[in-house]
Amino acid sequence: MRRHSLVVFVPEEIEINRLPVGNISIPVIAASREGDGFVTSVSVSAFGRTCEATTASPLTALHLRPEEVRAGLDRGDLETTNLISEHGAFQPLELDVHGIPMDDGTGSFATIEVRAIVSGREAMEIIRVPLQVTSLPNVPGWYGGDGHVHTVWSPDVVLLPISQRARHARDNGFGFIIIADHEDGIGRKWGMSGGYCDQCRAAEDEYGLPVLPGVEIAVANGGHCLAYHMKETAGTVPSNRGFDSRRLLAQIDGHNRPLSYGIAAHPYERREKWTDWSVRNLAGLEIINRSRRARPEAVSKWFELLNRGLARTLKTGSFTVGLANSDCHNLQEPGGRGFTWIRPGQREYARETATSGPLTRESVWSAIRSGRAVASGSKDLGFFTLNGAGIGETVTAYPGSTLALALEHHPSAGRRCRKITVFSGDGRQTVLTPGRPGMPLRLETRCPRSSTFYLAKFDFTGHRRHRDSEVWTNPVFVRVAG
Ligand SMILES: [Zn+2]
Ligand SMILES: [Zn+2]
Repeated sequence: MRRHSLVVFVPEEIEINRLPVGNISIPVIAASREGDGFVTSVSVSAFGRTCEATTASPLTALHLRPEEVRAGLDRGDLETTNLISEHGAFQPLELDVHGIPMDDGTGSFATIEVRAIVSGREAMEIIRVPLQVTSLPNVPGWYGGDGHVHTVWSPDVVLLPISQRARHARDNGFGFIIIADHEDGIGRKWGMSGGYCDQCRAAEDEYGLPVLPGVEIAVANGGHCLAYHMKETAGTVPSNRGFDSRRLLAQIDGHNRPLSYGIAAHPYERREKWTDWSVRNLAGLEIINRSRRARPEAVSKWFELLNRGLARTLKTGSFTVGLANSDCHNLQEPGGRGFTWIRPGQREYARETATSGPLTRESVWSAIRSGRAVASGSKDLGFFTLNGAGIGETVTAYPGSTLALALEHHPSAGRRCRKITVFSGDGRQTVLTPGRPGMPLRLETRCPRSSTFYLAKFDFTGHRRHRDSEVWTNPVFVRVAG
């Protein structure tokens, strides 16, 4: 039996966010370093149970370093995905763990074993993946989800249908999920019968949570733009690299006016950097993308945009919203590194439906657009009110009067908040030591002479250091009267 002639790609870790746990699904991708052959069996074991699939999937030699393949699969790299589709084997596995008692916060391992015949000889590879059971914070009025998820509709994804993403979201207690595949994989099938929007709708009906069709469009002068709340009955959406940022945002706004809007995806990603910050109608930007922490350049740009737009925000209520999304492609799961919490307004609850509970598609699109949202690296939640107003709202106050903030944090099981920082629009910071989860922490400050905003950052820590993460709220705005 030879080891190391096979390379096996699985998620770095598996997170389950709902108790009791029913099924654990794990995508397994296998490739051969050199020599041709075929995979004979793939198995996964955890909690004393095993699921095994016997196959005869062909393998051909993949002459590429495994680290490069892993990075390409994570990032969604077309060349790597094509190589894996041509040379590798893909096996989604489902392990049934119904009835096994598990505590919230349980950490364990899943063992994945792949056997193959390579160059006529038996080969095997075994991988252990950390597995974490962590139920999501349950706070009335707040719903968590992922606003940037890829499926097989993207040319750089292998075999992950919309329905599988929707099921993952449902099984892990998400409130919503936004499918945001690359435009070039959708093209004329956007609004077509049985096409992209139809498949989102079908997954929504099947799994009972909003499954919203978004799209990621490459900007001609640099960057990727997420287009949200687009017209589902339209034939197409604006095409990749067809427009510079100014024209693309105008196209997006016009697609389903006044509802549709554009978000700068991963604005500081080295290869796909957003270049034109002079655009006025950018509805938001991802301050966290495929990471547990915000990118400092994205945060300082965000503060700059919030300040630049302050006068308009005080007039119209609209501002550039900060978001956290996973941008998951092949191995990462939705929400794993980037999760957005929303708090839909009262008005939106009125349109409750039987299929999707209190959340409707409109309420999700609108909560994000109006910034009633919190950007979280690892599904923990933190938020505050200011003189009773919630995230994304505006209050009016007199200079010198007291502004009363009440901050709350809600970690996922097994995690804790170690620091809270309150920022004002001019960059001033107040650092607080968090109290108990769910207990409001009060902070009083003097209302300044000119209008501004406040927002909070929560630092969370896990039992493993690499799981430290940040939560950034959107702002509460203060209109100074007099
Ligand atoms: Zn992108
Ligand atoms: Zn993406």
